[in-house]
Amino acid sequence: MWSRWHRPRIGRAVSIVGAAKRLALDAAFPERCFSCGAIVDNAGALCVDCWPKFTFIGSPMCALCGYPFPHAVSPGAICAACTKRRPAFDAARAALVYDDTSREIILRFKHADRTRYANAFGAWISRAGAELVPLADVVVPVPLHPRRLIGRRYNQSLLLARAVARLGRLPVIPDALRRLRNTPSQGSLSRGARHRNVQGAFSLRGRAEVVGKSILLIDDVYTTGATVEACTHALKKGGAARVYVLTLARVIRPQ
Ligand SMILES: [Zn+2]
Ligand SMILES: [Zn+2]
Repeated sequence: MWSRWHRPRIGRAVSIVGAAKRLALDAAFPERCFSCGAIVDNAGALCVDCWPKFTFIGSPMCALCGYPFPHAVSPGAICAACTKRRPAFDAARAALVYDDTSREIILRFKHADRTRYANAFGAWISRAGAELVPLADVVVPVPLHPRRLIGRRYNQSLLLARAVARLGRLPVIPDALRRLRNTPSQGSLSRGARHRNVQGAFSLRGRAEVVGKSILLIDDVYTTGATVEACTHALKKGGAARVYVLTLARVIRPQ
């Protein structure tokens, strides 16, 4: 039997072996910058050259949709688009401006199996939604149509939802929403056409999990808000009390 004096030393020996293994692994597979591939210290980091090329969204912004304002505004101010037509969701926030720089890493995340980006992206999204995460009961991803899921093998929004849920210590309901139609790509559609394109494209799998709950709805990119609004309609029809939208990036067009 080991005395209690031996245990810490054995523990230290084990941790030294562990650290040596980690060092060897780090040397063989060093952490790399998401954007340019340069070697960095931490997993999920951007190098010092790439960091300033990304535009993170911060205050001041529209209290509803999170559209960034160029100058200070009074608290609770909302943007022109939200004044004209109030969105169905209760609030939306995004971590990054969707531009050439962020588009590249998001496309790699979606289509090139860079699923290991999810943890860092989840941390960025959680920071952008810091005021909304504490208000939520559950996390729900925007679903892919089953046919698209077969081609891609994973739903990038579910990976982000899991990362956000882990950080916020919230449960995630991966299949709360169903995508009924494999809607054509929204890429070239106008705002009105996007809304028509996804109208009724989502349904709720079951009311029990969402009724009376505040939902954090997670997607990768907010373009016109059509997709998250269609999801919000399905969630609220099913009895969800509030829907807060968090996305990794957001298209910013002059209003
Ligand atoms: Zn870099
Ligand atoms: Zn707004």
